[in-house]
Amino acid sequence: MKIPFLDLQAQYQPLRAEIGEAIQKVLDTSSYILGPSVLAFEKDFAAACGTTEAIGVNSGTTALQLALLAAGVGPGSEVILPAMTFIATASAVDYTGAQSVPVDVDPVTYTMDPAAIEAAITERTKVIMPVHLYGQPADMDPILEIARRHGLVVIEDAAQAHAATYKGRPCGSLGDMAGFSFYPGKNLGAYGEGGAITTSNPEFTQTIRTLRDWGQTERYHHALRGFNARMDGIQGGVLGVKLKHLAAWTRGRQRAAEGYGQRLAGLADGLPQSRVAGDHVFHIYALMVSDRTAFMAHLIKNEVACAIHYPVPVHLQPCFAGWGYAPGAFPVAESIAQREVSLPMFPELTDAQLDRVAEVVLNAPGL
Ligand SMILES: *Cc1c(COP(=O)(O)O)cnc(C)c1O
Repeated sequence: MKIPFLDLQAQYQPLRAEIGEAIQKVLDTSSYILGPSVLAFEKDFAAACGTTEAIGVNSGTTALQLALLAAGVGPGSEVILPAMTFIATASAVDYTGAQSVPVDVDPVTYTMDPAAIEAAITERTKVIMPVHLYGQPADMDPILEIARRHGLVVIEDAAQAHAATYKGRPCGSLGDMAGFSFYPGKNLGAYGEGGAITTSNPEFTQTIRTLRDWGQTERYHHALRGFNARMDGIQGGVLGVKLKHLAAWTRGRQRAAEGYGQRLAGLADGLPQSRVAGDHVFHIYALMVSDRTAFMAHLIKNEVACAIHYPVPVHLQPCFAGWGYAPGAFPVAESIAQREVSLPMFPELTDAQLDRVAEVVLNAPGL
């Protein structure tokens, strides 16, 4: 039995007609960019996130970049972010001209370690940007408390955490703003690029809506140095249909994760763990192993797809060599980068597929 890493067709096929209709409607009204489908999705997505606003944009990276700009981040500012994340978190900071200041992550949850933040704060710090890595909310209460005490803005990188909750509150509503990605493989994926910023702050909303549309306040009157960052009408239509199924898909991912947990219980320390009550939405099912090369070779040989998220922490990426960090700077992030293997994870994983993955994993060397 061959097990894929994710199966986008399994999700598309049952929705084929409904999604076709939503796309047709956009074509029939020529509302290719923004328009009614995007407005409707923004309204529904804000409601799902427990915010007053959602602003649709053309990618998750842009969502973070515009949120940073709205917070006043620019050349001379510093933004604190975790050393273990996808490159986009740091690239969004880089695009504003500001400096990323990485901190280490927690060894149990792999998200930003609140205890590491205060030592990284300087007079230039403007924003703390925690990442809900793999779909698990960062420990937001201590992060928010530190931010309030130092007058800093908190922007959640929620690109992997649609519908995740922290102590009962939805991700996207925890900080001052949040950036979501609708890259096709994300928990809520468009059929192309897409992203959104969620916030309940009217000033940030106004700035971001202006920035995403060339900084226009009236047509051809450009108050801000803006961007072409609008969401496509077709993506709004697709996302509007798919959002209605997100809760069921999230339960599917959680059921699959629970299934792995039962079958792989003997690997205790290597399995995903949490510290606070909330919903991990398992964008990634991250397993920690000791000899990844041997382990992955065994999975590949047995046709169980797997991946690494991420092999190099941001502070050691060649493109950010200018930050000046050497190996050893953030030992927890570096250890995750060496040990992490992502197992197949999608809502439609069957018990038979879970059985097969577990069987291959438990027989693998390098655990
Ligand atoms: C996917 C992702 C992004 C970027 O989103 P895009 O839509 O691909 O631009 C940002 N941060 C994290 C943690 C991500 O996983």
